Amino acid sequence: MKQPGKVYLVGAGPGDQGLITVKALDLVSSCEVLVYDNLVNPALLEETATGCELIDVGKTPGRQTVEQDKISRMLVEIAQSGKRVVRLKEGDPFVFGRCAEEMTVLDDAGIYYEIVPGVTAALGCAAYAGIPLTHRDYGSSISFLTGHEDIEKESLRIDFGKFAATGGTLCIYMGMSKLEEIVDKLIAGGLPNSKPSAIVSNGTLPVQRKILAPLKDLVGLAKEEGLISPAIIFVGNAVGLAGSGDWFEDRPLFGRRFVVTRPVGQNSRLKKLLEQKGAEVLELPLIEILPAEERNLVAETFAGIATYGWIVFTSANGAREFFKLFFRAFGDIRSFGPMRIACVGDSTASVVRSYNLEVELIPTVSTAEDLAQALVATDSLDSANVLVITGNRNRDILVNMLETLGHAIVDTLSVYSTDFADVSEAKDLLEFRKNGADALVFNSSSAALSYIEQEEDLLLEDQARVPILCSLGDQTTSTLKENGLSVGLEAETPSLESLVDSLVTRFSGNQ
Ligand code: SAH
Repeated sequence: MKQPGKVYLVGAGPGDQGLITVKALDLVSSCEVLVYDNLVNPALLEETATGCELIDVGKTPGRQTVEQDKISRMLVEIAQSGKRVVRLKEGDPFVFGRCAEEMTVLDDAGIYYEIVPGVTAALGCAAYAGIPLTHRDYGSSISFLTGHEDIEKESLRIDFGKFAATGGTLCIYMGMSKLEEIVDKLIAGGLPNSKPSAIVSNGTLPVQRKILAPLKDLVGLAKEEGLISPAIIFVGNAVGLAGSGDWFEDRPLFGRRFVVTRPVGQNSRLKKLLEQKGAEVLELPLIEILPAEERNLVAETFAGIATYGWIVFTSANGAREFFKLFFRAFGDIRSFGPMRIACVGDSTASVVRSYNLEVELIPTVSTAEDLAQALVATDSLDSANVLVITGNRNRDILVNMLETLGHAIVDTLSVYSTDFADVSEAKDLLEFRKNGADALVFNSSSAALSYIEQEEDLLLEDQARVPILCSLGDQTTSTLKENGLSVGLEAETPSLESLVDSLVTRFSGNQ
């Protein structure tokens, strides 16, 4: 008989992907089936293992895709088939999450389950909007209420008047469609017109919006500012202590949206750097990296690997592919030999260092010319064997300079090829076409060429923000310009950090 599976009822946190717990993330990345709601950050779905089945049971007010009973039954059936299933819910599963119903059905069916808490929206929104929920002098209780925006409930069942009397902080979920009614009831229940209140919409996300106002002005201001669901309404004296500064929205790239175009799986560092500054990031991979096909050349080069005085890595992709091939051939790092190692820049060097190999040379500026000059300056190239690890689109300039200026004997090994990725496959394409972005970032000439070839697929709708084109270095800039495109910004030096700095200088504070 098949072993029964198990269900994990898991909170994903309120939006920001970083607010999921370590335990929840572990479960997401190891489950066989993931059943998720629509407010769960889609980035978390990418954390699942290959082959994991993803089932969207998203509930949006006014649109219910899958009925609750059906979801509960689905969980039972999947577990009975022997699988580990994560039921991922926004925020915390026990806070307006209908977890109790699912738990009861699982109990009745004799299915094992575990529950993992999450940061509930009220707590996430309060922290990211700088709104205190308690204070020694101004608020000693917190209430989580529902405003019954939930389509399954027709009328307001909560006695808001009673809650008005608690003197604590009220956090009202699902209240936007009944905002006026809620405010009226709170005032009728005894709260003064001036009671500090706030609304945080899309809290903890790059599109977070918030308003702070005395209770009587809340409805008008929410309309004026166009605040929408999902949102939390906060009411209470502690809310009045909200900081005048705003750590989340004051980050320099908050409200800005950028498109990164590197191959799938390689955007994460740039994405992270931009997100840390508050930006929203879309991913449209324009190129893909494929392993090299010249097997004979690889075998030949590896046979003589001990004869090289220097090995030169010209890209992080090259370094990654090289070591994949190397370990397939040797399986032991000692076969690498005592050669000296040069890398074009820090990202490439960090790949090499991850194998505990020392990188001796990185030029101050990450270009082929600077790399060649720095190598020549070591005075160690004359008649030395040098192995340059490349891709299929690398420029010959490095090899020429090493041969003519340094008199080295250079072999090149092409370990990967760069192809254009089909942009119509990109998950963020529709969103990009609909709303555009502030800037599109090109890390390489190949990405620029791929963009040019697929420009028609990337056409923006009329109301969309038109992005400026940003380039990481002068080669990429020339490729864009040669093709008649204007480059809005080039990183001061060709590194991701410098690119982000340039974006901050360009975009911060001038919305
Ligand atoms: N279990 C969830 C709540 C689900 S009910 C939790 O613990 O947070 C859905 C409601 O949560 C929304 O209508 C809204 O009121 C609130 N909500 C969820 N995500 C939110 C967000 N990012 N910003 C503001 N409110 C949010």
